[in-house]
Amino acid sequence: MSGSNPNSASHRDEDQDSRPVALPLVVLPLNAQRYSCHGCGNCCRDFTVQLRPADLRKLTSQGWAERLGMPVTIDFRGVTYLRQRDDGACVFLMDDGLCRIHKEYGFAEKPIACQMFPFVPVPDDRRTRVGLSFACQSVRENKGAELRSHAGEIDRMTRAVPETRLATYTAMLADAMSAKDGELDTLAHAVDAYLARGDLTFRDRFDGLAWIAASLGRAKLAEVRATRFRELVALLFSALPGELEHLPLEELLPKQARLLRQAVYARLEDVQVNQAKTKGRWRTVLAQLLTSRAFTRGKGRVPFVARGLLGEVSFEAIRTVSTLSESPDRDAIEDLFVRYARATVVGGRAWGAGYYGWPAVRGLQALVLNLACAAWLARALAASRGHEDVTIEDARDALGRIDRHAGRAPWLGSVGERLRLEYFRLDDGLRRIVRESV
Ligand code: SF4
Repeated sequence: MSGSNPNSASHRDEDQDSRPVALPLVVLPLNAQRYSCHGCGNCCRDFTVQLRPADLRKLTSQGWAERLGMPVTIDFRGVTYLRQRDDGACVFLMDDGLCRIHKEYGFAEKPIACQMFPFVPVPDDRRTRVGLSFACQSVRENKGAELRSHAGEIDRMTRAVPETRLATYTAMLADAMSAKDGELDTLAHAVDAYLARGDLTFRDRFDGLAWIAASLGRAKLAEVRATRFRELVALLFSALPGELEHLPLEELLPKQARLLRQAVYARLEDVQVNQAKTKGRWRTVLAQLLTSRAFTRGKGRVPFVARGLLGEVSFEAIRTVSTLSESPDRDAIEDLFVRYARATVVGGRAWGAGYYGWPAVRGLQALVLNLACAAWLARALAASRGHEDVTIEDARDALGRIDRHAGRAPWLGSVGERLRLEYFRLDDGLRRIVRESV
């Protein structure tokens, strides 16, 4: 009888309707980008992998702690991570560069964060965009299959992390200003189309991006919404690159140079969980403060960072390396940096859930800062390797390092970082830091 009861039928429908519907996936629609894993093992070194309860259950049932005779996880401030060796490598990384869990149990039995890398699912209120981390060597080298060939696998992985497919994020255009329908898509398309312009040098393209990011930061956006916002975006981009010629730049101000180096250090800072536990909180914080001050001062030898990434180079030597645009590898570097910037915007990693929940305008400014930091670091790596010019390897390593923390490390989404961006927005700071190294 219950089957004929109209109330019970409507309850069933209600139950089904109230079940959250997974957002549709949009895998980075960038034809210029490819990826397949080539097993270099780089992502198994240095990354701290946070574990979910399902990961912990798998690791326990696989019996690793007993078999390896040591714990394979570590707890720190209420979170459980995969344990790393003293050199930063994951305890499961084998000498041949392969993952032991993968080898013995298959890809789908690894912790979900390891499976997902380098894909970065970013839900907004209508879909889940899937961006890419340029911390992956194959992504930087643009090697492998078309991205859409990974769609089935990404669908499976994201369903294991339900929050990646839920519309919980309200897209913001600027501080305290929710985006209206289509505003952010308009902005993303306009930025992407501008960055794709092969008739302009990448220096001009990034300079233009910096000008747009600063101009939108100054604009009274509350007065130009929806259609008028779209008109504003079209107007700003149509003024490029001609407008830049009427706005000549002075040299980087000393304070801007200091803040840029500080921003680079913030992106290199890398405290491993086991080190932080051994050293203790205050010793760790003090060491970070001293290193940050040395970067800010910018004189003498660069302090030890990121396990000796910069060797024994001095800040003075870094200043002698030419800009990326002057490199003999300019074309390859341009392809890399432009792909990165486009993938970040179109893949949803420039703002919103992909970047600390930040509104689009500040997210664009952060993208400019990240590009400038990567360019500075590429010059630093060139200097530390004895190169007169930045090589494509220097540029790849620098960009991978900078993107490693972008959108992940809590301190890059902090108030301090916001203040730094505010400062760069003044006195053409965003444009000047781009011109300095790109
Ligand atoms: S860095 Fe990229 S190519 Fe290398 S092992 Fe990780 S996912 Fe594969």
